[in-house]
Amino acid sequence: MQAARFMEVGRIEVGDIPDPDPVHGEVVVRVSHAGVCGTDRHILKGEFPSRPPVVLGHEFSGTVVAVGAGVTTHSVGDLVACDPNIACGACPSCLLGRINLCENLIAIGVQRNGGFAEFSSVPAHRALSLPAGLDLRSAAFSEPLACCVHALDVAAIRPGERAIVIGGGVIGLLCVQLARLAGAEVMLITRSPARQVIGGSVGAHTVAATPEEAREQWPRGADIVLECAGTGETMAQAPRLAERGGRVVIVGVLAKGEGVLIEPFDLLLREVDLRMAFVNPFTQSRALQLLASGAISTAPLVTREVGREDLPGILASQPGPSEVKVLVTG
Ligand SMILES: [Zn+2]
Ligand SMILES: [Zn+2]
Repeated sequence: MQAARFMEVGRIEVGDIPDPDPVHGEVVVRVSHAGVCGTDRHILKGEFPSRPPVVLGHEFSGTVVAVGAGVTTHSVGDLVACDPNIACGACPSCLLGRINLCENLIAIGVQRNGGFAEFSSVPAHRALSLPAGLDLRSAAFSEPLACCVHALDVAAIRPGERAIVIGGGVIGLLCVQLARLAGAEVMLITRSPARQVIGGSVGAHTVAATPEEAREQWPRGADIVLECAGTGETMAQAPRLAERGGRVVIVGVLAKGEGVLIEPFDLLLREVDLRMAFVNPFTQSRALQLLASGAISTAPLVTREVGREDLPGILASQPGPSEVKVLVTG
């Protein structure tokens, strides 16, 4: 089968590798749609731990084509979305139910072969069946949406609060929709005019190009700030945009080893609550439900559909200012 593999820092190779066999406890999925994620770029640059050679792609949907021994939950023909994160189930965090904090966490498409291939073998319990009526294209968003659902759980928005979402990429645009569903008045901050337009179309009440513009609109700041851009600059700005007693949730990924200047004196005196939301603990089923019900729109977020052979070029360059989600199809 054709697959795009991460070989070493700086090198993605598209070529033929053997089809996966259905092993015990796993299902083989014919990949239908696979999303390109910022994490894939971090992996290629050596900024996120991986185990090359490995097929990347951790946001995908597809059809079950083979079922391994011992699998009773799935049949050939089932439509599924992959939850890429595999927790060990035995470490202290897992035993407390905090599976995203598993000490031995590995991810499909990061440390083991993922969805930038014709087929991918997935543990049956990580192949979530699609709710009735949900199509495979939308289902490819269930993993990033599940990360945002977790972020909204962490943010604990109450109806009527004001929320600022920093970053107009796919995570930001999904968080805008979830914050709106949670009853917040939502501002999106993004420099990109194209992303501002999409933000407005998916429910942001107002948009700003910069934190200064945001301040002009909401001088007191917001009850909730969701940092979804993952840059040093925006990480440093996020607490300053929080209202007194506000919450900041870090969702974006800043490269390992990079730091930012925060001012504990300011955070303390204003009791700004700094929170983290990492991946998708038990949230992907809800994400699938939100997609199936039509509460979250994904069509405006797909800016390009490409083939696997395009991946080396796409992953080696930063997304353009109007790019949101690139889907690999076929
Ligand atoms: Zn991702
Ligand atoms: Zn564990």
